Amino acid sequence: MSTIEFNSMWREKLLNRFISYVKIYSTSDAESETTPSTERQWNIANYIVEELKMIGLEDVSIDENGYIMGYIPSNLESNDKPTIGFISHYDTSPDFSGEDVKPQVWENYQGEDLVLNKETNFTLSPSKFESLKKHIGQTLITTDGNTLLGADDKAGCAEIVTAAEYLIAHPEIKHGRMALGFTPDEEIGRGAHKFDVAKFGAEFAYTMDGSEVGELEYENFNAAGAVVKIHGLSVHPGYAFGKMVNASLLAAEFIQSLPANETPSTTKGFDGFYHLMDVTSDVSECKLQYIIRDHDDEKFEARKKFMEQKVAEFNEKHGEGTAEVEIKEQYRNMKQQFEGKMHIIDLAAKAMKEAGIEPKIKAIRGGTDGAQLSYMGLPCPNIFAGGMNFHGPYEYVALESMEKAVEVIVNIVKA
Ligand SMILES: [Zn+2]
Repeated sequence: MSTIEFNSMWREKLLNRFISYVKIYSTSDAESETTPSTERQWNIANYIVEELKMIGLEDVSIDENGYIMGYIPSNLESNDKPTIGFISHYDTSPDFSGEDVKPQVWENYQGEDLVLNKETNFTLSPSKFESLKKHIGQTLITTDGNTLLGADDKAGCAEIVTAAEYLIAHPEIKHGRMALGFTPDEEIGRGAHKFDVAKFGAEFAYTMDGSEVGELEYENFNAAGAVVKIHGLSVHPGYAFGKMVNASLLAAEFIQSLPANETPSTTKGFDGFYHLMDVTSDVSECKLQYIIRDHDDEKFEARKKFMEQKVAEFNEKHGEGTAEVEIKEQYRNMKQQFEGKMHIIDLAAKAMKEAGIEPKIKAIRGGTDGAQLSYMGLPCPNIFAGGMNFHGPYEYVALESMEKAVEVIVNIVKA
């Protein structure tokens, strides 16, 4: 079942566009202070800009930070429909090499092991990645085992551009104004921070940056970082009797005082956690770096208080000033931004159903650029882009999943 006429010519366009994007090296770099964080991101940015102009988008622009915007005007008689935005990021994760990506296309996949690299015998197997079984009969695009693929989020980029091209080629489809946005540096958490929401001019938008077909996300964690410092007293071990206070040993005690079953590896769904990220320690001082996460606002506040309370109890036992804690807010659950605006979620869910997809609404156990944008005044849930096994050499995407994403975009903007 399909609501758009996506023939082999359009499949080909989508596939070729995606392949040409992933071949362009555009890894971002958290160490860099510039925007984009890497010069190489300009290569794909400029490529996308040229494409948008060629397709016939209006007001195509790229600013000094590499943020790309372009528009398709409404073709409706009345002007009462909101401008709807679609956003994706063109950088790829620094977690794994994105240089010299050699995508491979596997038609009519039959559930077998795919040897991606004969030299290294690097194999993508459904015995390890069960999700592959959902793609029997489909066309898969994979790596050659040496790099990531970059479907995160060049699948999203290719889908948005192709949907725009499709709408321009089909003026009989009546639609409101569509805004397209492409950003650098999402993978290093800086995709949204220089996004000009006012210039973009959309009433709401969707990031096309999720994974599996049907994913629809408008909830993410509330997030804070907590640094606990524990002060000891260093004395020569030979003269330490009754004097030395070993911060490392105290830290071990403090760590044990937090609930063992509220960590990332013991929680899922809507369960929050305390996560001990890093420990640096010697006798005189120990620094514990935690992150605190919870979807629920009240529980999140309670978790921060709990951390402070544990530090207070610790000081009661070991003496005032032994431990101190500093808690910093990181980001908020975007859900609050959708209060009274659930039509934005409903519209996406309806567009999926029309395309024969059952929406899978789930909460992100992390943050997203969309959350930041939502707090900057642009409500922005996240929709699947189709890619799987992000940020590594097992990354793959099915062409059919990307087609479905194009269809969902078209269904959202059509009146
Ligand atoms: Zn992404």
